[in-house]
Amino acid sequence: MEQIVYVDGSFVAAADAKVSVFDRGFLFADGIYEVSAVLDGKLIDNDSHLARLERSVGEIALALPETLERIVEIQKELVARNNLADGVVYIQVTRGAVIPRDFVFPKDAKPTLVMFTSVKDIVNAASAKTGIAVKTVPDIRWARRDIKSVALLAQVLAKQAAAEAGCQEAWMIEDGKVTEGGSSSAFILTQDDVLVTRQNSSAILPGCTRKAVMKLAEERQLRVEERAFSVSEALAAKEAFITSASLFVQAVVTIDGERIANGKPGPITNRLREIYVEFARATAT
Ligand code: PLP
Repeated sequence: MEQIVYVDGSFVAAADAKVSVFDRGFLFADGIYEVSAVLDGKLIDNDSHLARLERSVGEIALALPETLERIVEIQKELVARNNLADGVVYIQVTRGAVIPRDFVFPKDAKPTLVMFTSVKDIVNAASAKTGIAVKTVPDIRWARRDIKSVALLAQVLAKQAAAEAGCQEAWMIEDGKVTEGGSSSAFILTQDDVLVTRQNSSAILPGCTRKAVMKLAEERQLRVEERAFSVSEALAAKEAFITSASLFVQAVVTIDGERIANGKPGPITNRLREIYVEFARATAT
């Protein structure tokens, strides 16, 4: 079955989905994206992702070309048309296409809205059992990482360096502390069972999964501390993991080749993953 993609008002075959070479997303990375997970054909924590989409576009003075209600309808129609059981729905909105190329916001551009689905069996991912290896890299990104911008070159380079080192994620380091993963939020569990993740600020993307996992952990009386941590603290931790819409909760077992604890996913990480899957199934829409 050919994949169906949404482009500016139409559902079309992937091969026929086209955007102008003058699109500002292509020329300037002048755009925003969002990713929501799909389990059993239903959207996971979608309100949280749409709230962040609305915030991101607001921060760059870009108007959404459709209402959030219509965007949800399109998400659901894409899931249905692509027969998607498990995977993600991707949304991208850019400031549109105008000739000639000019940095200043165009007065008459119509934002471009592109949405598509991808298949991924998030719950049964093999890496959830083994855990993943992380490579550290300097965080060379811009100063507004709280905006989910399509300008992802720093993350492309970070994740490529990680892949070349045989790792599945990069942890970006700034001033001796971990900011976050290339496409995930970073957590550790200290030796005295405190869950630590960096506080939200313009230094990181406010992860939707991070937020849900923190709440679920606190509801189960786990102590959560929002603060920056170093790589040596992570290596001395009991457990470490990352969170994202397309991974849920994923154990980290090595950093730059050094093992965390016994080099296996820890019990609290495994439990938080189960709890998140239960939450996802119970609140899917
Ligand atoms: N941090 C970065 C830089 C990301 O790109 C992502 C997801 O793509 C996340 C964190 C995790 O965010 P979420 O849990 O909302 O997917």
